[in-house]
Amino acid sequence: MIITTNITMSFSFWSTNYVTTVLDSDTGNCGLKPKVLSETGAPAPEELKTSPEDQKIDAAKSLINLFLQDKVDKTTKDDEKTAPEKLPVTEDLKTALTEAKSPADDQKIRKEDAVRVQKVIDDLTVMETETDAKPEETEHPNKAFGWAAKDKSGVLSPFHFSRRDNGDNDVTVKILYCGVCHTDLHTIKNDWGFSYYPVVPGHEIVGIATKVGKNVTKFREGDRVGVGVITGSCQSCESCNQDLENYCPQMSFTYNSIGSDGTKTYGGYSESIVVDQRFVLQFPEGLPSDSGAPLLCAGITVYSPMKYYGMTEPGKHLGVAGLGGLGHVAVKIGKAFGLKVTVISSSPSKEDEAINRLGADSFLVSSDPQKMKAAIGTMDYIIDTVSAVHALFPLLGLLKVNGKLVTLGLPEKPLELPIFPLVLGRKMVGGSDIGGMKETQEMLEFCAKHNITADIELIKMDEINTAMERLAKSDVRYRFVIDVANSLSPP
Ligand SMILES: [Zn+2]
Ligand SMILES: [Zn+2]
Repeated sequence: MIITTNITMSFSFWSTNYVTTVLDSDTGNCGLKPKVLSETGAPAPEELKTSPEDQKIDAAKSLINLFLQDKVDKTTKDDEKTAPEKLPVTEDLKTALTEAKSPADDQKIRKEDAVRVQKVIDDLTVMETETDAKPEETEHPNKAFGWAAKDKSGVLSPFHFSRRDNGDNDVTVKILYCGVCHTDLHTIKNDWGFSYYPVVPGHEIVGIATKVGKNVTKFREGDRVGVGVITGSCQSCESCNQDLENYCPQMSFTYNSIGSDGTKTYGGYSESIVVDQRFVLQFPEGLPSDSGAPLLCAGITVYSPMKYYGMTEPGKHLGVAGLGGLGHVAVKIGKAFGLKVTVISSSPSKEDEAINRLGADSFLVSSDPQKMKAAIGTMDYIIDTVSAVHALFPLLGLLKVNGKLVTLGLPEKPLELPIFPLVLGRKMVGGSDIGGMKETQEMLEFCAKHNITADIELIKMDEINTAMERLAKSDVRYRFVIDVANSLSPP
């Protein structure tokens, strides 16, 4: 590997990349954060004091950035076939982190941050080792085929790789359909700075269980199953023990991550996947495989906060800000809970669709000051799916006393939080990120019972690059889903 240390990355990258990553406006992403960087870098360097211990921690973080940048750069080099070398900073990193994690420094770096930082190192060390030793095609015993982005151009093309043998706790899934999430787009283009190519995206997977391990009790061969955003976690931390695997510091993503077997994960734009049973979902009877697939990300992303924050009381008034992949599902789920639902959008042209196609009760044009004024103090809850930077003040104004606003987007800069309406109206602002496995199963059953699916455009695998271009322009109503089983065939 050629090590090109990019100094300009270091601190400025660490402190700002999390908030300057590009996120779509009004179209919904699954809330998947750039975990590797953001979660490990909780305190921005400028917020830390500059004692020698702090400097050590800063140095550790800086080194990790350089390390990551090297990984990213490597994938775009012509000479990537050059025999990879161990990055010499790895040991320094470990030393710096060990020191940073010593008990005396607990106040400087939170324990969970230390765990996450360690996970980055472990992941990267594994990736390094894997790159050294095993090409993707022969890494595991079972041949696999899919479509991958090979570099940050994001262009997807056929890709031969391999899947692990089905273990005792595993379910092998033949993939039928896979939804196309905004996170897929961000990852293939390396918008978040931690894509490790080749990337096989896809985390809205519906398929058939074709093999189950001997410890698998929840599934049988032939079952229709789903796989969502996460495929691994530590299974023993406080979050995992509360069925909140989605907040586990060691959670593995379905793609572009390191799985429980210590190897890189590849997602659903492929013929099959092998997943630990804990992260496999029964796909309820009556829920269509194609239009049900996006529920595995978009569905749970809006369902979980509605349940957690108690936004489900029939007759209450829910505002849904932004009408995209997340917003359109939020409208349907809100109606199923018996809420009065108003779509809040800056595009008056969406009114007809919101009301007549999606079933919203009313439509509020956020750019119309008269209408916004008339709606002040009328809503009990707001689900805010807008990912662009936007003002919270007008939304908080729409809430009644005790109103709740939950944000699901990840704007590129911090939003201003107006305190007056919060204090004077006992209002609250919260956040949420996908959901745990138990709740995801519950959500699927809820959607099956209430006939909730995503509105989709079904595409063939070889139409994915055009679909990605359209997705980048938010030109989709409301989710692309790939007909994997009928259109994916090795060249
Ligand atoms: Zn997603
Ligand atoms: Zn855990």
